Amino acid sequence: MIIQANQLCKTYGSGDGRVIALHKASLHLAAGDFISIMGPSGSGKSTLLHLLSGLDRPTSGTLTYDGRDIYACSDRMLSEFRRQRIGFIFQQFNLLPVLTARENIIMPLLLDKKQPDETWLKQLAGILGIGDRLSHLPHELSGGQQQRVAIARALIAKPDVIFADEPTGNLDSKSGCEVMVLLKELWQKTGSTLVIITHDQQIAETAQRRFSIIDGVLSEVMNG
Ligand code: ADP
Ligand code: MG
Repeated sequence: MIIQANQLCKTYGSGDGRVIALHKASLHLAAGDFISIMGPSGSGKSTLLHLLSGLDRPTSGTLTYDGRDIYACSDRMLSEFRRQRIGFIFQQFNLLPVLTARENIIMPLLLDKKQPDETWLKQLAGILGIGDRLSHLPHELSGGQQQRVAIARALIAKPDVIFADEPTGNLDSKSGCEVMVLLKELWQKTGSTLVIITHDQQIAETAQRRFSIIDGVLSEVMNG
């Protein structure tokens, strides 16, 4: 899957309250790329990730996945496309509190009236170390376990691309490290594209390409 973002802009509000959250962000991602994005709080990182994943639409600019114009799709088509091709991991996990870990993980498939691939689910749960926690509710799990359930949910449909918005931001450093190691392992195993936003320089440096965003302006960090 080749992802091409051209001149993405996002403005919130109007008049005196107008905020330019993102200014002309362009990005080319090839299949299997692993990139990291760093930037101060409020610099537009989440805005960019929401636009790249089709969770939100820009004020201007275009986005294509293998040449397909994503923002030209209806909301319904876009939701379906996201469930099937894109995995998204949030800082706050965003698990549904009344569903068990297993139910949370397979929810994206159920919405498309599909049955989970039990072999893949078992493999994922095994890699993520949550095999014996699948019947638990989110509040019965630690933060690290909840994020691992959220990772399984993001990967259950075997997406082409995984977006993670500060996935370790709500975890202590040990659980955060574990989550990062697992994410990288799954990236390697599945061959999907991985885009991570992080505050952590060390995590950022493990990526193949690094970007920084300051006041809504995205730029690639060159090595050397
Ligand atoms: P980051 O993820 O880097 O912390 P965000 O992308 O969340 O930054 O936000 C970028 C800027 O856009 C900030 O100034 C923020 O206050 C503003 N912003 C984000 N979402 C909204 C919104 N829904 N309405 C108005 N302003 C917003
Ligand atoms: Mg953010």
